[in-house]
Amino acid sequence: MKRLIFLGPPGVGKGTQAKKLSERYGLRQISTGDILREAVQQATPLGIQARSYLQSGKLVPDEVVINIIGESLKRADSHLGAGYILDGFPRTVLQAEALEKMLKQNRVSLDKVLSFSLNETELIPRLSGRRSCPSCHAIYHTEFNPPKKAGQCDRCQAALTLREDDKPETVRERLKVYRRETAPLLDYYRQKGLLADVDAAGSMEDVLKRVQQAIGDLPAVQKV
Ligand code: AMP
Repeated sequence: MKRLIFLGPPGVGKGTQAKKLSERYGLRQISTGDILREAVQQATPLGIQARSYLQSGKLVPDEVVINIIGESLKRADSHLGAGYILDGFPRTVLQAEALEKMLKQNRVSLDKVLSFSLNETELIPRLSGRRSCPSCHAIYHTEFNPPKKAGQCDRCQAALTLREDDKPETVRERLKVYRRETAPLLDYYRQKGLLADVDAAGSMEDVLKRVQQAIGDLPAVQKV
């Protein structure tokens, strides 16, 4: 069973790669961004609390995110399966320390932390062309990965949306937050000997090959 973290700036393609791996190998994608967006959409108490942070590109407070991930981890660690990818968590050193404690409680440990990197000038076009399915969370790109029918999800036919936080002003704030709060995690995990660098330039398939190489032996391909 693989337990992985995908780290990297917004727009680098972590979510897209996590989804590809989950389709191909049955690895479960645990995305705090998806969980929070769904909560906002459904206006649950969590969503009401998180909304303004998401809209402005700021991080939701650590204790809130640690709480929601704790439940998902407990569930994922108590199931046999191919494993999981944490996509968008942890994002601060405090979250990483909390994660370590939770994994210890579940008597498991991380296999690898993949650090995706891409020139900042390439991140912006990836974000502005991104379209997401609000229903099944599939991710498309108007140029690099268009849906079969413009504006419509291939999988569930829902109308695709542009994420509110992919607007240029908010993107700038998210990049700033990434550099300040999340980039220190690269050293944190490098010191633990868990970090693997992945060049995120090129096509989705090119990057997927690098990801597979970095992860090493993956479970036999499953039809899901
Ligand atoms: P993402 O989909 O990973 O880009 O996350 C979208 C937004 O959700 C972020 O800009 C934050 O506002 C919030 N968010 C997601 N994950 C976290 C996290 N681990 N800690 C704090 N805020 C988060």
